[in-house]
Amino acid sequence: MKAVQYLDVESVRVGEVPDPELLTADDVLVRVTASAICGSDLHLYRGHIPGMSPGSIMGHEYVGTVAAVGDRVRQFQVGDRVVGTFHVACGACAQCRLGQYHQCAGGGVLGYGLAFGDYPGTQAEMVRVPYGDVNLRKIPDGLADEKAIFCGDILTTAYGAVRNSGLQPGERCAVIGAGPVGLMAVMAARVMGAAEVYSIDRDPERAEATAAFGAIPIASSRTNPVRRIMQATDGLGADVVIEAVGGPQTLALAFQLVRGGGRIAAVGVTAETEWSYPLMTALTRDITFRVGLANIHRDIDATMKLVQAGRLDPSSVISHRLPLEGAPEGYRLFHEQRATKVLLTI
Ligand code: NAD
Ligand code: ZN
Repeated sequence: MKAVQYLDVESVRVGEVPDPELLTADDVLVRVTASAICGSDLHLYRGHIPGMSPGSIMGHEYVGTVAAVGDRVRQFQVGDRVVGTFHVACGACAQCRLGQYHQCAGGGVLGYGLAFGDYPGTQAEMVRVPYGDVNLRKIPDGLADEKAIFCGDILTTAYGAVRNSGLQPGERCAVIGAGPVGLMAVMAARVMGAAEVYSIDRDPERAEATAAFGAIPIASSRTNPVRRIMQATDGLGADVVIEAVGGPQTLALAFQLVRGGGRIAAVGVTAETEWSYPLMTALTRDITFRVGLANIHRDIDATMKLVQAGRLDPSSVISHRLPLEGAPEGYRLFHEQRATKVLLTI
């Protein structure tokens, strides 16, 4: 089959690889119909996260059709349309039984290298999904692939971050980063009742584009975001801040934007292992800070219902639809921020 393979920093190719096979009775083989390029794939592409061996298959945002099921699979049959979660969980360990699927003892992330379970990725004609009953959802009739796909990763990541922030109706929310995850956070915060959503990006074009999603844009390369948000909130700050970039700089900014007693939920991925926590600020201003990978399994059923009901339309972030063969170009465009979101159709 054809698959997108990692070769080296800023180098991917579409190559021929062996078809996957069912390895356990819990596996499901999915014939992939579309797989998106995620901002998390860019960290691999840029060489920021080690552990991808040359030739390994990339990708973890996907939809497709069930092609084969193992003997223990109960929820799926050949031909079902499905969306998968970007991280895999066993559904049976102590963490999964607590609902902490992103902390699964035997889990990992599809297409994310050795440190994340070494699972082949989804930017391919076919993928083996471990523990299929746990890591797949049927796509309801009438729900387009282009909408369902984002429930398996970025929409649900953003929704989960807003949920973790404890946003209350009528509160003011600042979102740092206006990539696809930031845009999803804007949409989710509005659906969850935010009175105002400020969207901050250093790239003026990306910032301005958020107005179409109902946000108040702030291009941080031109306008001081702290001053702007303090002005807009009578010197108080944002009730909640969602950080959707990753790394020390934007985490520090989050602490400057949030009001005393406010909450920060960070989902940006970074290869930094440490960061100097603003302990005195957090202590005296009573700031709640939360960071973590998304728990897609916790929230995917909710986001799928919101999308199906038309309350959220995540497909509006797609800027480029390319065939699988166009993956090298898709990665380049997304890396250079000339694409907002690239969907590879297969
Ligand atoms: P992206 O790379 O498309 O977007 C990042 C945006 O941040 C860009 O628009 C960029 O201009 C902006 N930016 C970079 N540095 C900035 C700065 N200093 N100040 C202001 N803006 C800045 O990525 P994305 O797809 O939107 O994903 C965002 C982050 O979310 C990534 O780190 C991704 O890995 C992460 N993510 C995390 C999870 C999770 O489970 N926690 C899931 C999916 C994605
Ligand atoms: Zn992702």
